Amino acid sequence: MAVKTLRFTLETKGETDLIDITRNVEKAIKDSGISSGIATVFVPGSTAGITTIEYESGAIKDFQRAVERLIPKGIPYEHDARWGDGNGYSHIRASFLGPSLTVPFSSSRLLTGTWQQIVLVDFDNRPRRREIIVQVVGE
Ligand code: ZN
Repeated sequence: MAVKTLRFTLETKGETDLIDITRNVEKAIKDSGISSGIATVFVPGSTAGITTIEYESGAIKDFQRAVERLIPKGIPYEHDARWGDGNGYSHIRASFLGPSLTVPFSSSRLLTGTWQQIVLVDFDNRPRRREIIVQVVGE
């Protein structure tokens, strides 16, 4: 068994920006030299999350609207009163989504569905540069 930790970075726009990182994860797995196992995709930071979705404009818009209904932007947050950075909603949205995803792969291929892409969601209230960690465990 082997463990490899790989990284890639990308620029986001913030405000529930969904970015398809499936190809980046596939490349990390390939670069790891491990052919079968699990990959944990993790974003350090308290205002972003990782999940899967069918990456098409309708589902992306629906996701953004659902997030707005669940954890609205235009209501008071204690975090904002305390820190004044105005991104209380970003922190709560990120906590609910979670910062990581574990995906299995076999023969160097992700075992995700055909219409299931891996996405980074940046909830912050400004553009960010994000480093994504892919830790691959397998053989
Ligand atoms: Zn904050």
